[in-house]
Amino acid sequence: MRLHILGCAGWIPDENETSCFLVEHKDQLIMLDCGTGASRLKYYKDVLDRYDEVSIILSHYHLDHMVGFIYLVPYLKDKKLTIYGPGKLVYAKSTKEYFDDFLQPAFFSHSIDNLTKEVHCIDYNGEDFMIGDVHIGIVPQAHSSPSFQIKIDEELIYATDTHFDLKHWDQKAKAKILLHECWTVKGNDYRHSTLEKLIQGIPQENFNQILIIHHNPEWTKEDIAEINKMIEGTKFLLAQDNLCIKA
Ligand SMILES: [Zn+2]
Ligand SMILES: [Zn+2]
Repeated sequence: MRLHILGCAGWIPDENETSCFLVEHKDQLIMLDCGTGASRLKYYKDVLDRYDEVSIILSHYHLDHMVGFIYLVPYLKDKKLTIYGPGKLVYAKSTKEYFDDFLQPAFFSHSIDNLTKEVHCIDYNGEDFMIGDVHIGIVPQAHSSPSFQIKIDEELIYATDTHFDLKHWDQKAKAKILLHECWTVKGNDYRHSTLEKLIQGIPQENFNQILIIHHNPEWTKEDIAEINKMIEGTKFLLAQDNLCIKA
């Protein structure tokens, strides 16, 4: 499995772009969310050249996870694209209907249907599903709008835009890499996660590496220094765009 970090910022891009991760595993190319990080695809042409099909799995529809769809055309136009989103599982409309709203002609010149050579929009139904030989797990999370944790085999767990609550965290959840969001350093946050609680609550022995993603754009240099001090000697690492991790 190879993980490419294209965007590990939350909400507002800075030196890191917003939520977008590329995973290469068992002959599949899977993108997790499609924020401004998709603007970095120009640096991943060698990766894209190896695949005729791309799957994008959305944790939810917030724009910091969606705006990159308007950057895909030059890189994916000749590929088959399958988009998985929560849709009618928890929302009023299907993934296809939300894309029809989002990519209206007034906003963008490509509709969802002609974004690439062939496009399919699928609502995941809460059950696990397969992409080729890859097992995808979907777990509901607490957030300001319903979001979902995404598991890729026992390789990777992607938990973004969620309030971390020890009571709801599966203590048996295991993977080589955990990507977990963090928004505040200490204290409480009811829509997002607090580093203090992540360090206390996540069984680190279940992961080789825990990457902190969806960084708060309002973190100061002092906050970053505090974070680095708190994670010293743990399996936590502050993610950074352009990192490639082989696991
Ligand atoms: Zn977000
Ligand atoms: Zn969100």
